[in-house]
Amino acid sequence: MGRYTDMLRKRLRNPLPPAAVASVERRVLKGQKDGNCNRTACQAPLRGRKQWRMKAVGFENLFHHYCDTCANLFNSYDRSQGKAPRCEVVPDRLRDEVEIVLAGEPS
Ligand SMILES: [Zn+2]
Repeated sequence: MGRYTDMLRKRLRNPLPPAAVASVERRVLKGQKDGNCNRTACQAPLRGRKQWRMKAVGFENLFHHYCDTCANLFNSYDRSQGKAPRCEVVPDRLRDEVEIVLAGEPS
């Protein structure tokens, strides 16, 4: 038996404690679409709710996702500073699919 198999056996006998699993889940879901709000102090679940996204600084196509409350906080602050609001609403999945279908129609 290889070293990896030994490690796997040991891990299966001693699964990660629930707190460690929850910690990994939070890190994986943070800021993802349909995951959790990207604001560390919030991390509200986003699936099935209105979601907003903000472009990650230094990346062209990477977005962090936020709940309605936090996005409004950021956008209110931006407006108070005379700047363009950084958060935009993420179109819901149904609308995305309709737009893709329409884009594929011959005109
Ligand atoms: Zn939030």
